[in-house]
Formats: sequence, C-alpha cells, structure tokens
Amino acid sequence: MSEISDSADGAAPLAGAHVLLGEGDAERAERLARALRAHGAASVHTVGSPAEFLRAGADPPEAVRLWDAAVWHTGLGGGDGALAGLLGEWRALLPGVPVIVTDDAPNTRLAVAALRGRAADLVERSDAEGLAAAVARAMAERADPLGVEGAGQRALRMLVVGAHPDDVEIGVGGTIHRRARSGWDVTVLTMSRGGGGGDPARRRKEAHRAAETLGARLLMEDLPDGSMVDDRATVEAVERAVAEVSPHVVFVHSESDTHQDHRAVHRATLVACRKVTRLACYQSPSATVSYRPNRFVELGEADVAAKLASIAAHHSQASRRWYLDEDLLRSTARYWGRFSQTRYAEPLELVHERYPLGHLPGSHA
Ligand SMILES: [Zn+2]
Repeated sequence: MSEISDSADGAAPLAGAHVLLGEGDAERAERLARALRAHGAASVHTVGSPAEFLRAGADPPEAVRLWDAAVWHTGLGGGDGALAGLLGEWRALLPGVPVIVTDDAPNTRLAVAALRGRAADLVERSDAEGLAAAVARAMAERADPLGVEGAGQRALRMLVVGAHPDDVEIGVGGTIHRRARSGWDVTVLTMSRGGGGGDPARRRKEAHRAAETLGARLLMEDLPDGSMVDDRATVEAVERAVAEVSPHVVFVHSESDTHQDHRAVHRATLVACRKVTRLACYQSPSATVSYRPNRFVELGEADVAAKLASIAAHHSQASRRWYLDEDLLRSTARYWGRFSQTRYAEPLELVHERYPLGHLPGSHA
C-alpha cells in the first residue's frame, strides 16, 4: 500500500479536486470515494460504463468546471485492447486530464496496455489509499509536468548513458518511463552494440524496441564490448551526444561497479558532462556494496511494468542472464521503495548538481 501524506504547508494533497470515478460496484465506489475525499477531494462522481465515462468526461456536472483526474476500473468493459481504445478516446477529448486505471489483480500485460494508452498509473482495485496517492501524484505532475524545481515550462531533456544494450533499462527504466510520460525528452546513449552477448544486429533492433517502450530515443555507438576504456575516443562519443541533446540531467553507471566497461563509461561521462547541470549514477546488477544512492525516484505500477517490458524486449538476453529475472527486478524496485515511502523506487547516486549562474565552490567546471 502506498503512503500518502499532507504537503509541508498543511494542504491536503487532493484539496479541491474533482475526480471522475469509473467503478461498477457501488460499495467499492463508496470506499474509494471516501479515501479520495479524506485526502481533500471536493467531489467524486461515479459512472458505470465506458459511454457514461466519456460523456461525463466531456460534459462534467455543473459544479465541476474541469476534472482534475479520472479513475477507470478495467472490469467495466472489454479486454486489454478495449482499455487502450478507451484511453485513446479520453485523451482526444481531455488531453490534460490524467487517468488512473484500477484492476483486481494488475499484471504486466494489462500494465503494457495501460501504458500504451498513456494511463497515469495502474493501481490494485482494493488499495484505496494507493489510489488516492496515485491521483495525488498524477495531479502534482500535471501542475509541474517537468518535476524539477525552477524548471519553468520548458521541455526538459535527459540523457542516459549505458555501456551495453539493456544496462539503462535495468538501471533506470522506470525513471525514464516516468519522465517521458510527464513530458521530458529522453535520449538513451548505448556505447556498444553488445557483440559480446549475441548478434549485434539483433541486439540493435531489440535496443530500439526497448527504448521505444519507455518513450525514449536511442543513440548507439560502436565501442568494443568488454574492452572499453575512458580514453579520448570514449569521452568524445559521449560529448557528441551531449552536444546533440543538450541535457539538463545525465544518468550513467556508477564508479562502484565490478564491470570494467561500466567504470570506463562512468569516467568518460563525468568528463564529457562537466558542464551539465546534474549528473547521477544508477545501479547495475554488477554494482558493488559501495554504491551509495542518495536520491530515490518514486515509481508507479505503470513505470515498473514499462521497465519490465523494455527489458523483455531484449529477447536474446532475457533467458540467459540471472539478473533479468522479473521477480528479482520487481523486488529490487520494491526494496528501494522503502526509502521513498512508496511501493517501488529506483535509486540514484547524485554526483554533481550545478547552477546556471556561476559554479559551486569545489566544483571543477
Ligand atoms: Zn553492461
């Protein structure tokens, strides 16, 4: 169950919100509405069919000027395909209003359908508190779609660097999906084609599919898998991507990693990103116990599902690597969730944070 708490200034997280609730069971609808109201929602309007849902969406009751969020229970119509269709229609009508999907037992296939339809989140139907938290998150993201203090309304750009195809998905697949979904422009830079782990042409295709699943664009270099070094050529390869993307944030492997390629890419990226505002390191399966994260990105069910789907896109690896086990990936995200008071999270080790006007003492800009 997710935690939800009042904001620092004492305001309830759903203060004044109008929520449209698609739920067929009256008793359950009442329980969910009660949880939403307990966290400040001004009104919860319940409907019981896809047609009513869309009609109420386009034409809210008089007291509701505009919906702040909508909740849709999958049991109200059709299979996974119907869900994507309904979400598509909703988006066409009300592009800015987030939809949270509820299901009796969310599975990966449903989550993929939800994310294709760009649902804000997927929550277990019985988890009323989790639903309230998901609605609050979706509303907060709409208010500040970039999720970064002082970012204004510009589109933010993120570059994520990995040595091999699938490194980035394992490290920060959920974060990439979360950011891309809230309007970030995310580019993945993979430094090799993964020749050490299979046919490069196949791995290249898989890597593109994986990036697409997360909503990111993929750039690929062709450094030698297994013998990367942090020399000038590696630094220049990262610099090319930095010049092209002009990122506000860069994520890369940590120095605390037993894989020589990961360490080389980490070092080269530090040099190439000396002028980038923020740089943080993600956790790889080969990270050592010295990896010390100090930031935790909260993930929703849809983010975790997208991460798993992106990793599954690397078919040639999925069956032969112990660290690609779905249960392990999910429980790792669950473990890190303890630091963010949410169910799932991904850890980051913030290496540097710079500010546009001058630089901080001790930095080497
Ligand atoms: Zn790797």
